[in-house]
Amino acid sequence: MRKPLIAGNWKMNGSLELLETMKQALTSAQVSSSVEVAIIPPFTLLMSAGRTLSDSAIRLGAQTLHPEPSGAFTGEVSASMLTECGVSHVLAGHSERRTLFGEDDQAVLARVTAALDAGMTPILCVGETLEEREADRVETVVLGQVKTVIDALSASQRSRLVIAYEPVWAIGTGRTATPEQAQQVHAMIRSWLSDKDPALGEGMRLLYGGSMKADNAAELLSQPDIDGGLIGGASLKPDDFIAICHAA
Ligand code: PGA
Repeated sequence: MRKPLIAGNWKMNGSLELLETMKQALTSAQVSSSVEVAIIPPFTLLMSAGRTLSDSAIRLGAQTLHPEPSGAFTGEVSASMLTECGVSHVLAGHSERRTLFGEDDQAVLARVTAALDAGMTPILCVGETLEEREADRVETVVLGQVKTVIDALSASQRSRLVIAYEPVWAIGTGRTATPEQAQQVHAMIRSWLSDKDPALGEGMRLLYGGSMKADNAAELLSQPDIDGGLIGGASLKPDDFIAICHAA
């Protein structure tokens, strides 16, 4: 019942040329319509991407947004600017935003709320660092990040959220969580959500992110509580990204 979502986070990579190539490759690959596919390119490509993808089922995402609707925020982009480009999904709290740009849980919550108010689907990213895992703090850290956002939203807002579990030690490192490690955390998140509201737990899509690739996607995606992937590096290579979409 939970439609798998495969989302490619291009980070600060990509070009108009890659956009065209990716669109053509995805279109001719005929990915099953039971899988939702999104690409998340940098801001500069969003307007073109919105036009390029408008005649396809590929969804368009943004990597972040500023929570204020407009104003003196040099360098920032608001929710309505994103929707004007055709953006339907937006990442909130990616670990690179949290660590490199100082976004704490309250800043992440403000972005989730702004995205929801604009009618977009926020993809809330959560995950522990290696030190936190080694100190046995996975549950505290991950559920803490989930709780700050979920507890502040109404029931109808919550139901529109997607959560991506991305262990920080697995992002861009080539070191993937084992399917068992990933499933364990996904099950923990789902069980916490179900305790809050059974329908929420049942319906929430939980993506895995962190070095997901063509050759490990099928095993990760076959876990009962993994409903898709947030793909970094492998989303820049059309063949690899398509293989992951097919695996879903
Ligand atoms: P990765 O990135 O697939 O390159 O590890 C995942 C992410 O940061 O979303």
